[in-house]
Amino acid sequence: MPSANAFANRVLKWFDQHGRHDLPWQRDTSPYRVWVSEIMLQQTQVKTVIPYFERFMAAFPDVQALAGAPEDAVLHLWTGLGYYARARNLHKAAKQIAEEGQGRFPDTLEGLCSLPGVGRSTAGAILSIAFGQRASILDGNVKRVLARYQRVDGWPGQSAVHQHLWDIAEQYTPRKRCADYTQAMMDLGATLCTRSAPDCKRCPLASGCQALAHGDQHAYPGKKPRKVLPVKSACFLIARSGDGDIWLEKRPPSGIWGGLWCFPEIDAPAHGRTLCLDRWGAEPAALQVLPGFRHTFSHYHLDITPVMATLDTTPQAVMEASRQLWYNLRQPPQIGLAAPVASLLAQLA
Ligand code: SF4
Repeated sequence: MPSANAFANRVLKWFDQHGRHDLPWQRDTSPYRVWVSEIMLQQTQVKTVIPYFERFMAAFPDVQALAGAPEDAVLHLWTGLGYYARARNLHKAAKQIAEEGQGRFPDTLEGLCSLPGVGRSTAGAILSIAFGQRASILDGNVKRVLARYQRVDGWPGQSAVHQHLWDIAEQYTPRKRCADYTQAMMDLGATLCTRSAPDCKRCPLASGCQALAHGDQHAYPGKKPRKVLPVKSACFLIARSGDGDIWLEKRPPSGIWGGLWCFPEIDAPAHGRTLCLDRWGAEPAALQVLPGFRHTFSHYHLDITPVMATLDTTPQAVMEASRQLWYNLRQPPQIGLAAPVASLLAQLA
């Protein structure tokens, strides 16, 4: 197997010819831009992230702008990207940097890891790309490359396997051109050493890759032990006013869809009538059960039954304006929406 130096040199040579050099966060590089891009890229592909990143930077060009923004505005720009805890943590971390660091970004592993939502790999990416320090990363792409290259047995979710992969990542990280190496490893995993179709013929690491030598690339990294996801169910009440507006309520800050706007939930379709009477003292003119669908979270399936309640008027009773509103489908307000809510509203519009 080639030395650590030879490994990094091969990766860097490949990066110079074939890596990605024109991503939006590679322009005007700053800790803030790298941080936001790294958080968006967690669990999400580059091509999906690019338009979200551009819109986010246009709205919040620096950490102070993000710290001073209302949470709804942040969640609004995250709508559709999923994993909303990332956005809430980004917002909290921006406030922490603005208040405790007077807007100065931490430039140490410990300082970065003290920010909500920043783990060791994200901190490593920021340190190497934005600060030019020697720091390692171990995101999903890099785990896959290293696990295949050295045929590391076991699921990376197990701490011993995870630690072993970190040791290999540290060992291969070069002292020079660390920023390029970080980007190169992410690119290699995303474009060549892909999950289902590794393109080993074009891979700069082919000559030393143990999984390729054994022809068992697909066995690495080891799979998470299978678990059958439980199924839960929920009824959404879609109350439509006489003006065609839709009633939404803001969810509590923690738990699923924390801080996002949703339809109220009811125990059963027939309870839609009771909710309309409770909220507005109004009997719905019609109550209709719409086709159900499944939304899957990482830890369970949620079977959703939407129930449409049509009201004759637009009741004015909004008890708490910061947590309840009539959503105008023609002029939508800038708020964060849970993914199934956004898709139902799009159908209604
Ligand atoms: S040779 Fe194939 S399996 Fe090995 S690192 Fe390269 S792309 Fe991945």
